[in-house]
Amino acid sequence: MKKKVLIIYTGGTIGMTRTENGYAPQSGQFRLAMKAIPDLYAAQMPQWDMVEMQPLLDSSNMTLHEWNKIAQLIADRYDAYDGFVVLHGTDTMAYTASALSFMLEGLDKPVILTGSQIPMCEIRSDGRDNLITSLLIAGGDKVHEVCLYFGGKLLRGNRATKYSADGLIAFISPNYPHLAEAGITIKYNEAALRQRQQGGLHLQLLENVPIGVLKVFPGIQFELFESIMTEKLRGIVIETFGAGNIPGDGDALLPIIRKAFRNGTVLTVCSQCPQGAVSLGTYETSNALKKAGAVSGLDMTTEAAVAKLYYLFSRGFDKESVKAQMEQDLRGEMTLS
Ligand code: ASP
Repeated sequence: MKKKVLIIYTGGTIGMTRTENGYAPQSGQFRLAMKAIPDLYAAQMPQWDMVEMQPLLDSSNMTLHEWNKIAQLIADRYDAYDGFVVLHGTDTMAYTASALSFMLEGLDKPVILTGSQIPMCEIRSDGRDNLITSLLIAGGDKVHEVCLYFGGKLLRGNRATKYSADGLIAFISPNYPHLAEAGITIKYNEAALRQRQQGGLHLQLLENVPIGVLKVFPGIQFELFESIMTEKLRGIVIETFGAGNIPGDGDALLPIIRKAFRNGTVLTVCSQCPQGAVSLGTYETSNALKKAGAVSGLDMTTEAAVAKLYYLFSRGFDKESVKAQMEQDLRGEMTLS
């Protein structure tokens, strides 16, 4: 029996066409473009259907509303399909992949996000291989998790980050090995793949909890951020230097962090360096963060940390529980040493 894959087309460069205001997605165009790719109908391909989301979006415009719509669609069709391919713009693909990895609890089927840097309507589009190979992966039986396929590499979705604005290998997975490499054949890295999940799928939709990301820089005046950090936000990801260091020995920041934590805000420390992990306490400059109640994001990407905060707050956990779970590996998003 042929495997069945559902393609969920959300927008993004892959299906965009030229308009007088630049590239934009247009309803119906991508389906026409697919008709011109004979490989999609080859005998070796899984059987597939496509649904087009409305409205089609440049992924810069994606919100939790769309994440919920995509996740709901997967949950609704979960029993009818063996795998899913989500066609998505590259700009926020790593955020959506991270969010889906948390929302789709107990996922046992492949969910592969892909897109392209060059639209299908142009020559040299990378969309063709990204789509065909993603379909083959989604129609195979190796993957039981949310992944991102791009430029010949299969990455764990919540480990991926966009790293090139114009290269055809647009994503990296700096702290976790590739799950597969697509050369002449698709070679899976069996040891790195997630194990099969038992117990069935459960969908956790996300609520629009106020979350923020703060990137520290030399000369940052933390006082300017105090009211947002202590009163408005429930979760903050601080992108620190190196292994979790902040400027000024934390003099200005620490009282703010303490106050934020008292008010229920969970602060997660990630690094501005894509590779390596936060290690609170290694330097004096980071030790204070730990004492003030910040959580170490270890080697999580900012994208995964943001999605995880949304997820944990949407599950209704209190701040202590959110804090504890931010430091636990829930979906292979962090490396616990
Ligand atoms: N702006 C586009 C998007 O993210 C870029 C892309 O798809 O590559 O939707």
